[in-house]
Amino acid sequence: MDEYQFELAQLREEQERSEALARRVQYQGVSALECVECDVAIPEARRVAVPGCQLCIDCQQLRELKRG
Ligand SMILES: [Zn+2]
Repeated sequence: MDEYQFELAQLREEQERSEALARRVQYQGVSALECVECDVAIPEARRVAVPGCQLCIDCQQLRELKRG
């Protein structure tokens, strides 16, 4: 493999990795419609503001308090 081919292969590898990462972020970015703890509907504004959130504001705060 000459240097040029090597660089091409490296570039492709980086591209594939960043695409895989983008897909994962997108998947994680799906917010829950309802809080997984108390089943309260999570406001649209919160779901947009906090991509991937699974808890309502109350439960999120409780969890953070417990975590210390
Ligand atoms: Zn909740």
